[in-house]
Amino acid sequence: MSTEPAVRVEDRLFHNRYLIDPERAHIKVRPHITPSLELVRMLSACPAHCYTANEKHQIEITVDGCMECGTCRAVCEPRGDIEWNYPRGGYGVLFKFG
Ligand code: SF4
Repeated sequence: MSTEPAVRVEDRLFHNRYLIDPERAHIKVRPHITPSLELVRMLSACPAHCYTANEKHQIEITVDGCMECGTCRAVCEPRGDIEWNYPRGGYGVLFKFG
């Protein structure tokens, strides 16, 4: 039996810091009436929980806390569901490993 304490991913992510760019969201969801299956999948696939569904069941994103993992870029950008860019210099996630 391991003597290492159990560590949850959420507890580790808590150490990260995020500098919000008030002038440019680095990921944008293209306007849609009905979301694609890929967009809906991001509700559970995004590790930072940046994707949410509004009252019309359309998918929205709030990029605060995005870890730039690229999951949504790989899944949704080829279909044109999102526009994905890295944050501008000085903004975005700052990973801390301690
Ligand atoms: S890049 Fe990763 S963390 Fe950022 S919004 Fe996409 S899936 Fe979420």
